[in-house]
Amino acid sequence: MSEEGAHSCLLCGATDATVLCEFPELTWVSCRCGLIYKLSDALPAVEYEEDYFVSRKNVRRQYNTRNQRRIRKSRSQILDVLNHVEPGPLLDIGCAHGHTLLAARELGLSATGVDISDHAVSFCGELGFETKIGTMERLPFPDGSFQIAVMKHVLEHTRTPREALREIRRVLRPGGGLFIAIPHAGYWKARIDPMGYRFFRPEFHGREHYFYYTPRTLARLLKQESYDPVHLPHPHVIHRRVGAAERAAEIAIAPFRVAAQQTRSALSLYKEFWVVATR
Ligand SMILES: [Zn+2]
Repeated sequence: MSEEGAHSCLLCGATDATVLCEFPELTWVSCRCGLIYKLSDALPAVEYEEDYFVSRKNVRRQYNTRNQRRIRKSRSQILDVLNHVEPGPLLDIGCAHGHTLLAARELGLSATGVDISDHAVSFCGELGFETKIGTMERLPFPDGSFQIAVMKHVLEHTRTPREALREIRRVLRPGGGLFIAIPHAGYWKARIDPMGYRFFRPEFHGREHYFYYTPRTLARLLKQESYDPVHLPHPHVIHRRVGAAERAAEIAIAPFRVAAQQTRSALSLYKEFWVVATR
């Protein structure tokens, strides 16, 4: 038990989580249900403005020179959702520099962005997308506005993921789908050396993240919030809604991709995982 006082697990309610790693600024605990969570910390809130997107070296590289790769990845993620739901308007929560919005446009979907950052909202606005300021717990849209919601590396940034999932459910239509990409608590570096790994360290993601999930714990949370997790944790290798040539190519390499996924999974090489859940 930690010295921070009573705390209970968001997922299972247990109060006996054990300390995973402890820094002067913050403490991470691990519950027997598999959920990893941060106890209250004394760090200032993270500002998600332009600096967040462009000032860090690795982030600049990701956002400014890997655009095409990121748009392709987003396209494949949206296609994963479209294996399970009918096409329809898409909302990207945490739309950043618009890679998902651009991919949705390529696929012929109407795409809207929401972000807590003024920088992201004006950036996506300049790309021609309707984009609004909002948080995942408070989305500025009427009930049932969207068929697809996408949340990539966003849910781990809130202390109140249940409120976020309820709010997203509100703006989704019945039969709509939610796509989540999120860090994998079982990633080998996080398991072998939590004190040394950036997931937990206060100067890296330890500052901005509150929970670390596995496919199992996130599926449990989604079910508790009335979603139906229909696909996880790896990408689909075959997509329904692509042209014949692209699907033939997917089918040809599917066995190799499945084998690669199984190997990566067995070796805990997945730093993130993907979930599609329907409403
Ligand atoms: Zn628990």
